Amino acid sequence: MTNEKIPYKIYLAENELPKQWYNVRADMKNKPAPLISPATGEPLKQEELEPVFCTELVKQELNDTDAYIDIPEDIVNFYKMYRPSPLVRAYCLEEKLGTPAKIYYKFEGNNTSGSHKLNSAIAQAYYAKQQGLKGVTTETGAGQWGTALSMACSYFDLDCRVYMVKVSYEQKPFRREVMRTYGARVTPSPSDTTQIGQKILAEHPGTTGSLGCAISEAVEEAVSTDGYKYVLGSVLSQVLLHQTVIGLETKAALDKYDIKPDMIIGCAGGGSNLGGLISPFVGEKLRGENDYQIIAVEPASCPSFTRGKFAYDFCDTGHVCPLAKMYTLGSEFIPSANHAGGLRYHGMSTILSQLYHDGLIEARAVEQTSVFEAAQEFARVEGILPAPESSHAIKVAIDEAKKCIETGEEKTIVFGLTGTGYFDMVAYQKFNDGEMDDYIPTDEELEASFAKLPEIGNK
Ligand SMILES: *Cc1c(COP(=O)(O)O)cnc(C)c1O
Repeated sequence: MTNEKIPYKIYLAENELPKQWYNVRADMKNKPAPLISPATGEPLKQEELEPVFCTELVKQELNDTDAYIDIPEDIVNFYKMYRPSPLVRAYCLEEKLGTPAKIYYKFEGNNTSGSHKLNSAIAQAYYAKQQGLKGVTTETGAGQWGTALSMACSYFDLDCRVYMVKVSYEQKPFRREVMRTYGARVTPSPSDTTQIGQKILAEHPGTTGSLGCAISEAVEEAVSTDGYKYVLGSVLSQVLLHQTVIGLETKAALDKYDIKPDMIIGCAGGGSNLGGLISPFVGEKLRGENDYQIIAVEPASCPSFTRGKFAYDFCDTGHVCPLAKMYTLGSEFIPSANHAGGLRYHGMSTILSQLYHDGLIEARAVEQTSVFEAAQEFARVEGILPAPESSHAIKVAIDEAKKCIETGEEKTIVFGLTGTGYFDMVAYQKFNDGEMDDYIPTDEELEASFAKLPEIGNK
């Protein structure tokens, strides 16, 4: 152990930035189940995925064997503009709580998009450009992914078409304008410009949309437009792979001071930031080198891990995408208007789903108002205004640090602080006015949704 006092922020030098992503699937004995075709139920091959996705990204999606994948130099150089992100020792929060725990957070909000999503957006835009495409289509929920992708596309001079979940489009006009400033076309979803959008509008008039629905629209436009492919901001294994830059940096920073975390905590929407943060640590766990307690935190209003089923399901509401075996609430589940928009997805990364199924990670569901209480407590002492999504991790980190007060344990807690909440002030306003509610789906609602799980893949 070094006696040197741990600084408030542990930075890496530019030349210490990861040059390879780490593919945790290579070390998993039980590999995540493959994506299967909705038509045949058979695992999808490279050529079957290529009409939708960029060729190189499909290779990454299907790669279960290479532990390390080189990060192209253009991407490393882009990373250098805003990375490494700081690993912060939360001295002020520790003092405020009066906890013997040592709390660290990896802060991904130091770029204009305001979240970790830029780490994968720049990679996906790069491969699209390499392939000679004109542009990409995508969906965005709360708007973070669309913002990140529009930044990445403008960097590589690619056209960017974003379907934005209608409720966010209306609640977050400024996010929309950031995207447009970077040159993206933004369409509220469901829209009447795609066939699937028209169908959803006919079946659910007045719907405020969902991620699953926006995905269907974006895929439809990509496959029907020459020179365009579809890109996705979470859930897929390729996205999780790109996000491992978070975990690799975290590990390198901790190693500098011989710090070994006892517990690693992150919020889970589609699972990309959490998967990226924990991958190098899970790798050690899988190889029997080290042990860590790992906690995924999700909203009680959209509890994929804690109340979902581990089954093959559609990734989108319109059922145009492949099926993935994951913890899911059912592809037609539309969560109540939770303010952590980035955590409202019905499913979960297949990698994290398998790890959870195998007991390598745990999960907790937390209620919205308790999340905002934690966010406020954190903001007032650490200064950063956290995104509601990120605040799910803060909530559990604080809970765990408080337990240490009772037990006297000096646990080292690391959590992912995925982004900033400047565009979430409507939610903060509701909280400040005492008007925030905690809607939790009933068992009946979930059962109704599970009843619609496809038979394909699940027999
Ligand atoms: C999108 C988002 C998340 C959730 O997405 P994951 O893929 O689960 O990481 C979390 N935090 C912020 C700030 C986001 O923008």
